[in-house]
Amino acid sequence: MTDCLFCRIVHGEIPAEFAAETDDAIALRDVNPQAPVHILVIPKEHVRSLVEAEDAALLGRLLLFAARIARDEGIAEPGYRIVLNTNLDGGQSVYHLHVHLLGGRKMTWPPG
Ligand code: AMP
Repeated sequence: MTDCLFCRIVHGEIPAEFAAETDDAIALRDVNPQAPVHILVIPKEHVRSLVEAEDAALLGRLLLFAARIARDEGIAEPGYRIVLNTNLDGGQSVYHLHVHLLGGRKMTWPPG
Protein backbone atom coordinates (compact mmCIF):
# COMPACT_ATOMS: atom_id res chain seq x y z
CA MET A 1 0.00 0.00 0.00
CA THR A 2 1.34 3.43 -0.92
CA ASP A 3 1.57 6.20 1.66
CA CYS A 4 0.72 8.86 -0.95
CA LEU A 5 -2.63 10.43 -0.02
CA PHE A 6 -3.72 11.15 -3.59
CA CYS A 7 -2.65 7.69 -4.82
CA ARG A 8 -4.82 6.21 -2.08
CA ILE A 9 -7.77 8.39 -3.16
CA VAL A 10 -7.19 7.41 -6.82
CA HIS A 11 -7.28 3.73 -5.79
CA GLY A 12 -10.45 4.19 -3.72
CA GLU A 13 -8.74 3.50 -0.39
CA ILE A 14 -9.71 6.90 1.05
CA PRO A 15 -13.10 8.50 0.35
CA ALA A 16 -13.21 11.85 -1.42
CA GLU A 17 -15.79 13.99 -3.17
CA PHE A 18 -15.19 13.34 -6.86
CA ALA A 19 -16.24 16.10 -9.25
CA ALA A 20 -15.21 14.39 -12.50
CA GLU A 21 -12.90 11.72 -13.92
CA THR A 22 -11.07 10.97 -17.15
CA ASP A 23 -8.95 7.98 -18.23
CA ASP A 24 -5.85 9.43 -16.60
CA ALA A 25 -7.03 11.99 -14.05
CA ILE A 26 -9.53 12.64 -11.28
CA ALA A 27 -11.04 15.88 -10.05
CA LEU A 28 -11.85 16.24 -6.35
CA ARG A 29 -13.45 18.95 -4.29
CA ASP A 30 -10.78 20.29 -1.94
CA VAL A 31 -11.45 19.30 1.67
CA ASN A 32 -10.42 22.82 2.82
CA PRO A 33 -11.81 25.07 0.07
CA GLN A 34 -10.25 28.50 -0.43
CA ALA A 35 -12.99 29.69 -2.80
CA PRO A 36 -16.64 28.78 -3.52
CA VAL A 37 -15.30 26.44 -6.22
CA HIS A 38 -12.03 24.72 -5.26
CA ILE A 39 -11.30 21.57 -7.22
CA LEU A 40 -8.07 19.58 -7.46
CA VAL A 41 -7.18 17.97 -10.79
CA ILE A 42 -4.91 15.01 -10.08
CA PRO A 43 -3.21 12.61 -12.49
CA LYS A 44 -3.87 8.94 -11.66
CA GLU A 45 -0.19 8.22 -12.23
CA HIS A 46 2.07 9.26 -9.34
CA VAL A 47 4.20 12.27 -10.24
CA ARG A 48 5.82 13.90 -7.18
CA SER A 49 5.67 17.52 -8.36
CA LEU A 50 5.99 19.67 -11.46
CA VAL A 51 9.78 19.40 -11.02
CA GLU A 52 9.60 15.69 -11.85
CA ALA A 53 6.92 16.00 -14.57
CA GLU A 54 8.06 14.92 -18.04
CA ASP A 55 4.85 14.09 -19.89
CA ALA A 56 3.87 17.25 -21.77
CA ALA A 57 0.73 15.65 -23.17
CA LEU A 58 -0.45 14.67 -19.67
CA LEU A 59 0.15 18.21 -18.38
CA GLY A 60 -1.84 19.57 -21.30
CA ARG A 61 -4.71 17.18 -20.63
CA LEU A 62 -4.77 18.18 -16.94
CA LEU A 63 -5.13 21.86 -17.90
CA LEU A 64 -7.81 21.16 -20.49
CA PHE A 65 -9.65 18.96 -17.96
CA ALA A 66 -9.53 21.85 -15.47
CA ALA A 67 -10.86 24.23 -18.15
CA ARG A 68 -13.73 21.84 -18.90
CA ILE A 69 -14.63 21.57 -15.21
CA ALA A 70 -14.54 25.37 -14.95
CA ARG A 71 -17.10 25.56 -17.76
CA ASP A 72 -19.24 22.87 -16.09
CA GLU A 73 -19.06 24.72 -12.75
CA GLY A 74 -20.14 27.99 -14.42
CA ILE A 75 -16.98 29.90 -13.56
CA ALA A 76 -15.36 30.09 -17.01
CA GLU A 77 -16.99 33.36 -18.06
CA PRO A 78 -16.42 35.31 -14.81
CA GLY A 79 -12.97 33.78 -14.56
CA TYR A 80 -10.93 31.53 -12.32
CA ARG A 81 -7.43 30.82 -11.15
CA ILE A 82 -5.22 27.81 -11.82
CA VAL A 83 -2.53 27.18 -9.20
CA LEU A 84 0.19 24.55 -9.23
CA ASN A 85 2.06 24.80 -5.92
CA THR A 86 5.51 23.30 -6.37
CA ASN A 87 7.83 22.14 -3.58
CA LEU A 88 8.39 23.86 -0.25
CA ASP A 89 8.60 27.52 -1.24
CA GLY A 90 5.70 27.04 -3.63
CA GLY A 91 3.48 25.89 -0.77
CA GLN A 92 3.06 22.27 -1.88
CA SER A 93 1.81 20.11 0.99
CA VAL A 94 0.79 16.92 -0.86
CA TYR A 95 3.64 15.51 -2.95
CA HIS A 96 1.53 14.16 -5.81
CA LEU A 97 1.17 16.65 -8.66
CA HIS A 98 -2.18 18.46 -8.66
CA VAL A 99 -3.72 21.50 -10.28
CA HIS A 100 -5.90 23.75 -8.11
CA LEU A 101 -8.95 25.22 -9.88
CA LEU A 102 -10.29 28.16 -7.84
CA GLY A 103 -13.25 30.34 -8.68
CA GLY A 104 -16.59 31.75 -7.67
CA ARG A 105 -15.08 34.89 -6.17
CA LYS A 106 -12.74 37.64 -7.32
CA MET A 107 -9.10 36.68 -6.85
CA THR A 108 -6.47 39.07 -5.54
CA TRP A 109 -2.91 39.58 -6.63
CA PRO A 110 -0.15 39.08 -5.57
CA PRO A 111 -0.80 35.65 -4.05
CA GLY A 112 0.28 35.10 -0.46
P1 AMP B 1 -1.02 21.76 -1.92
O1 AMP B 1 -0.86 22.50 -0.63
O2 AMP B 1 -0.87 22.61 -3.14
O3 AMP B 1 -0.14 20.53 -1.96
O4 AMP B 1 -2.52 21.29 -1.97
C1 AMP B 1 -3.00 20.15 -1.31
C2 AMP B 1 -4.48 20.34 -1.18
O5 AMP B 1 -5.04 19.08 -0.87
C3 AMP B 1 -4.89 21.31 -0.07
O6 AMP B 1 -5.65 22.36 -0.63
C4 AMP B 1 -5.72 20.44 0.86
O7 AMP B 1 -6.81 21.12 1.43
C5 AMP B 1 -6.16 19.32 -0.06
N1 AMP B 1 -6.48 18.06 0.56
C6 AMP B 1 -5.77 17.41 1.51
N2 AMP B 1 -6.36 16.24 1.82
C7 AMP B 1 -7.47 16.15 1.03
C8 AMP B 1 -8.50 15.18 0.89
N3 AMP B 1 -8.51 14.05 1.62
N4 AMP B 1 -9.49 15.41 -0.01
C9 AMP B 1 -9.50 16.56 -0.74
N5 AMP B 1 -8.54 17.51 -0.65
C10 AMP B 1 -7.55 17.31 0.24
